[in-house]
Amino acid sequence: LNARDHSATELLRSRGLRSTRASRLILARLQHSNDHLSAEEIRLSLRRRGHKVSIATLYQNLKRLTANGLLVGFADTDGIVRFDANTEPHAHLVCTGCGRILDVAPDSVPAARGAAALPKSARGYRGWAVRSARLELCGLCPDCRRRSPTA
Ligand SMILES: [Zn+2]
Ligand SMILES: [Zn+2]
Repeated sequence: LNARDHSATELLRSRGLRSTRASRLILARLQHSNDHLSAEEIRLSLRRRGHKVSIATLYQNLKRLTANGLLVGFADTDGIVRFDANTEPHAHLVCTGCGRILDVAPDSVPAARGAAALPKSARGYRGWAVRSARLELCGLCPDCRRRSPTA
């Protein structure tokens, strides 16, 4: 089950997790758009929609959801931990102007296909069990390019 294709409740159930209000809100928020938010951004985004979740509850749930494979946590180029509801192997487009991070479908860029295939081909390499590989393609997004056409 990929976190993006199923309802939050369904996903939590599939992992035998209790479907709490906070865990549903967090999952649904990250499924809704693939914008790779940090914990603080998730909290603010939920609050803007009228949902108050305390920091402690938020971190507890992010830890639980990540440990159970419903979210993937990763550090961005500034070292900020961000959360991804897309748990399939994929590459990221990273804008060095505004910091936005977009998923690249493995089929659209050959290098992204490599990142998706890597864990499988590297499985067992020198006794390691490789579970994921991350590829970041850094540059300027269309909006930032428009703002600074010389870049
Ligand atoms: Zn940008
Ligand atoms: Zn992603």
